[in-house]
Formats: sequence, structure tokens, C-alpha cells
Amino acid sequence: MGRYAVIGYPISHTLSPLIHNANFEAKGTADQYSAIAVPPDQLMHIRDTIRSQGLAGFNVTIPHKEKIMEYLDHVDADAMKIGAVNTVSVDGDVLTGHNTDITGYLDAFNQTFGRQHRRILIIGAGGAAKAVHRAHANNGDTVTIAARRMESFQQFRTVDFKAVLISDIPDLDPHDAIINTTPVGMKHEDLFEEMEIPHSIITEDTLGVDLIYQPERTKFLEYFAEGHYMNGMPMLIHQAMDAYTIWTGEQGDIAAVNRKYKAHIGGKS
Ligand code: NAP
Repeated sequence: MGRYAVIGYPISHTLSPLIHNANFEAKGTADQYSAIAVPPDQLMHIRDTIRSQGLAGFNVTIPHKEKIMEYLDHVDADAMKIGAVNTVSVDGDVLTGHNTDITGYLDAFNQTFGRQHRRILIIGAGGAAKAVHRAHANNGDTVTIAARRMESFQQFRTVDFKAVLISDIPDLDPHDAIINTTPVGMKHEDLFEEMEIPHSIITEDTLGVDLIYQPERTKFLEYFAEGHYMNGMPMLIHQAMDAYTIWTGEQGDIAAVNRKYKAHIGGKS
């Protein structure tokens, strides 16, 4: 039996145990996945935690995605490029960091919309925006990132995108897809109203992605035509399944995880 976990602080609201344990059940393994609260001043003891819990691999969430890199032996190229790790593989004493937010997002986007070269507009320039940018850059897309402060771009480790202010968006050339990576919409706010962006930047062909998964369809996504939008759930599930593949070399059961997640959400509404 393999033991896996997500570390973060606070950690009580994470959906990762639900997703991973649904996958283990579908795969018929006795593996287990739990959430471990690791306060920031305890992260230095991560190797003791791995040993005492017998972890074969683990995920990393807020606030440890950047700091964890100091305690790893290797970090893969993409995680290094964005300066954040969300998945660690454990091979004896050797710890290797990966970032499946990048691959999980890209898998979700390409499976939903098909792969082709696109002009992408990312709104927001925080941690998730770095993963989404890396994904589209790896896809060969042309990327513009809009932030409310130019200082946000100082934290990017690459400059292979166009950096603009959100207030500049109305003057930009059209985009094929617009991605919201801010939390605006979680409380049912209308992103276009909040950020004073005219919805005329959207045509019936424009694709819309919101990394938010609750509510299932934010006001932002309501501006996009049927079949032209995606919420954050596919990314959440794909990043987990990509972590499972890194740990075990096997493909996860996405359909079973989707069913479990939908039952969980349905049971709450
Ligand atoms: P973060 O690092 O705090 O970044 C948030 C970004 O949003 C920052 O650039 C921030 O700008 C910007 N922002 C916040 N409020 C804004 C406003 N009113 N107007 C303009 N910009 C605003 O957070 P994160 O980790 O990137 O997460 C962002 C969202 O993505 C959250 O809703 C999170 O739940 C979601 N997410 C989903 C997945 C998934 O698997 N679906 C994965 C990761 C994240 P400032 O820097 O100026 O404050």
C-alpha cells in the first residue's frame, strides 16, 4: 500500500483527498491519500514528516509551493521556470519537484477545445497565472498577461509574453481565448464590471476559461457561447491525475474521479 498526502496550511478545505481516494478506489488499490497541515515554521522538517508518515509522494499547496524547492534534491525544468512545485516524488531519500498545474491545465484545455495555435489573454498575474502562462507557452501560443499592477511581472522568471495593465485590455487586438486566473467571481462578482472591461472584446468564437470551479459557471463564463467555455474543475482533476502518473507510472481513472466529484458537489447544493 502506498501512502500519499497534500501538505499546506491551512489545509481543511482541500479537495485533493476526495479526488485521489476516488481514483485509488476506481483503480482497485489499497493506496491512501490524506491532508497534512504543515505550518510555515515546520516546513524545514519535511523529511521527518515523509519518514514518519511513510509517504511515497505528496502534493504541495498554499503557502509552500515556492518554499518547498529549498528542501528538494531536483526540480524539473517547467517547475523551475515558474518557481513553484505542486508535486513531489519520493525515491528513497531523493525528492524531486514537479508542477502538474502546468500539465493538468494544458491537458484540460486541449481536451476541451482541441490543440491549435491561439492568441491567449490571461487576466491576473499570481501563482496560477504563471502555470497557465507556462502551459500556453509550451503549446506554442502567443500570450498576453494583464495585471492590475506592473510590479506583479517582476515575479515572473521568463519574459516570453506581453505584459499589460488590465486597464489596457480595451485597446488590445482581439484574442482567441481569455483566461481568468484571479479569484474575482468566487463570490458571484461580474469580472467585466469589477475590472471595467467591455464585454465587446468577446465574439461568439472566443473561448473562455475560469480557474474557479465553485460556482460552476461564474458570471465571467456566462459571456461565452455554449461549448466555448471551461471552468476550473478539469484542471483540478487533471493536475491530480498527472501527479498520480508521476508517482506510479499509471494513468488515473478520470471518469471515476469526475463522477465522485459531481456527486460531492451535487450533494452540497
Ligand atoms: P494569487 O497568487 O493570490 O493570485 C491572484 C491574482 O489575482 C493576483 O495577480 C492578483 O493581483 C489578482 N487579483 C485579485 N483580485 C483582483 C481584482 N479585484 N482585480 C484584478 N486582479 C485581481 O492566487 P492564485 O493561487 O493564482 O489563485 C487564483 C485563482 O485561481 C483562485 O480563485 C484559485 O482558487 C484558482 N486556482 C484554481 C486552480 C484549479 O485547479 N482550478 C488551481 C490554482 C488556482 P494582485 O497581485 O495585484 O493582488
